[in-house]
Amino acid sequence: MNNNVIGKIDFVNEAVLKYETGSNERIELERELANMKNSFIEIPVIIGEKEILTGNKGTCFLPHNKSKIIGEYHKASEKEVEMAIEEALKAKEKWESLAWEPRASIFLRAAELVTGPWRAKINAATMLIQSKTYKQAEIDAACELADFFRFNAACLPQIYNEQPMSLKNMWNKMEYRPIEGFIYAVSPFNFTSIAGNLPGAPAITGNVVLWKPASAAVYTAYIIYQILKEAGLPDGVINFIPGNAGEVSEIILKNKHLSGIHFTGSTKVFQDMWTAIGNNITNYKTFPRLVGETGGKDFIIVHNSANLESASQGIIDGSFEYQGQKCSAASRIYIAKSIWSSMKKIIIEKAAKIKVGDVERIDTFMGAVIDQKSFDNIKNYIDYAKISNEAEIIFGGNCDNSIGFFVEPTIILANDPHFKTMEEEIFGPVLTIYVYDDDKFDEVLALIDSTSGYALTGAIFARDRYAIDKAESVLVNAAGNFYINDKPTGAVVGQQPFGGSRLSGTNDKAGSKLNLMRWISPRVIKETL
Ligand code: NAD
Repeated sequence: MNNNVIGKIDFVNEAVLKYETGSNERIELERELANMKNSFIEIPVIIGEKEILTGNKGTCFLPHNKSKIIGEYHKASEKEVEMAIEEALKAKEKWESLAWEPRASIFLRAAELVTGPWRAKINAATMLIQSKTYKQAEIDAACELADFFRFNAACLPQIYNEQPMSLKNMWNKMEYRPIEGFIYAVSPFNFTSIAGNLPGAPAITGNVVLWKPASAAVYTAYIIYQILKEAGLPDGVINFIPGNAGEVSEIILKNKHLSGIHFTGSTKVFQDMWTAIGNNITNYKTFPRLVGETGGKDFIIVHNSANLESASQGIIDGSFEYQGQKCSAASRIYIAKSIWSSMKKIIIEKAAKIKVGDVERIDTFMGAVIDQKSFDNIKNYIDYAKISNEAEIIFGGNCDNSIGFFVEPTIILANDPHFKTMEEEIFGPVLTIYVYDDDKFDEVLALIDSTSGYALTGAIFARDRYAIDKAESVLVNAAGNFYINDKPTGAVVGQQPFGGSRLSGTNDKAGSKLNLMRWISPRVIKETL
């Protein structure tokens, strides 16, 4: 391994394109959307240099047009998973002995491909497969994915440069080794960028990876894989193993060479993986590093000094963009009584303007939710609110899965701050509002802190600086990303490193050096001169 630092990388965030009518990017994207809908691809399991068609298949469909299938993917079975572990370990020696610059170059080149010749393709896939609008796809699939690749590369020399002090007659060196064994990356359906970063961050630091993408987003994950290959990623460094999550994980979690998990998804799945690892702890060669970013029940508190227009806009965008399927999406809102009737009017006016439908229409704000299971889950919460005496639906509440999995933006007003939809993650376009007495601001902060087990994102809208200061301090452990006078979504790589604690994860902050450090196992060398 050669981690001498001779290069410096200046990071800037990728500019978000606007997709105005007649613009080149719009024309290209529309062409790609049409191509993709008229084609059918077969996605293999990829292990080392081998592309394997196992014959055990799943489908890639459009959530907003569920009968439209544009591809199928092959699922890895036990045999392929074992092969992938073997191939990864085989690739390890060469990959980790490569200097950091060629590793970084591959990811820098991948970012150029994502934002250049592959931009339309990765955005089109994210729109069709994950039902994202033009804007949401561009922010996620093109910009944030490229940001992760570039930012991680830029962090490497900063990390490697940090060296211990040496005294007279001695030279101390810190060698930033990757971890022995292999890393298991498990990605969620909702962000193409996260899907790329989960295998990408361990790989750029010199590790080898087995990557299991979410079933609902295998199509876009495959595009990321193809981009990395085109950028020069050697065979076996990242092995692509879509499949049945439980089956794949069972084999991997008991392998003695497992040295880390890079996971984003729901809390329960991460807890189960942690339990399985705990049960197997005496069998591993090294203690696996467990990095998981999980669920959220994200809050907004609106103080009576808030600017009502910006608070209302923050609530609408923070709750309903991408159908509320962001881990950071606001879903419990606390509003001071004295401003409630004015806020209610503005919020409902804004909600009424939301267009729900096909994401290929430029004015669509919300597409469909990801699949039938998710649709049923969200609908159950709405139905529960409909018949409850403790809450009323003040906007929306309709669900229709005849063509795609569409759920209206839905606003529930709860009398009880512990109403079910104030406490549980729904992962859909449903927000619940609780109105508090203005003079109970302190109590409501304590309530926010203790209502949910999650601690991912949260926001306060207020002009009163004492109120802001109070919220910032009382809610210190209630959110890993806290926003003042802004919506709690939309963290940008390098600007707002992202993650939460409590039931929201290990808070290793994706988009920061802290995350990359988890994939490094340093060795210190002291030489007496
Ligand atoms: P999910 O937990 O259903 O799936 C995530 C991944 O885990 C998928 O690849 C899935 O196949 C896999 N998986 C499922 N069961 C498994 C098992 N038994 N063993 C191993 N892997 C298994 O989550 P999702 O529906 O894809 O994503 C939504 C969830 O992700 C929400 O809870 C959301 O809050 C969370 N999320 C969190 C962040 C964050 O940064 N904190 C970001 C995005 C999403």
